[in-house]
Amino acid sequence: MSHTLTVQWTISPLTAPRPILACSRCGGHRPFVCSGKTRLNANGRRLDAWLIYRCAACDDTWNRPIFERRNVANVDANALASLQSNDPVWIRQMAFDIEGLRQCTDRIEEFVGCHVERRVMSGTTACTRLEIILAAPGASSLRVDRLLSTELAVSRARLTRLEAGGLLTLVPEARKGLQRPIRHGSRIVLDLSAQDDRAEIARRALEAT
Ligand SMILES: [Zn+2]
Repeated sequence: MSHTLTVQWTISPLTAPRPILACSRCGGHRPFVCSGKTRLNANGRRLDAWLIYRCAACDDTWNRPIFERRNVANVDANALASLQSNDPVWIRQMAFDIEGLRQCTDRIEEFVGCHVERRVMSGTTACTRLEIILAAPGASSLRVDRLLSTELAVSRARLTRLEAGGLLTLVPEARKGLQRPIRHGSRIVLDLSAQDDRAEIARRALEAT
């Protein structure tokens, strides 16, 4: 009989990263907020596409290039259809694509708030071992210890002690893994056999508090 509870957490960030740019209208460096709108320009067979951002202070616009001067034959069909229909799901993906944003600026304001969708893969809360599989399709700067601390209501100091005692393992292993950003597909394994509150921890792994 298995005493491992395996859950999958799908993590969706709540607030899109904001580039910090010099605003030509109000002066100084300001965060720019994604407007959720795109612009598509055609020049013969060449296309330009941008995601529109607005200065948080004065509303001035900044156009983030998605692609520029690209031959229509080389534009991904799904991207083109999404741009033409202003598809909100696709636009959201673009807005959260921090690696894409890094190609425009190094200064980016990131947010750690996220929604965690929990799914049981196997086992029950009457477990002595908890395994959490992280699904984080969009890149995130959220640290592993902050995520666990918030979602399991376990202090970060206790998480550090568990890790030092070999009762908390990250797969794949990484030096100072708890302090690193969460990674898609990585796993957190907790040996709860000696923890008196293991049932509560397991329950929180399954249900948001
Ligand atoms: Zn401004």
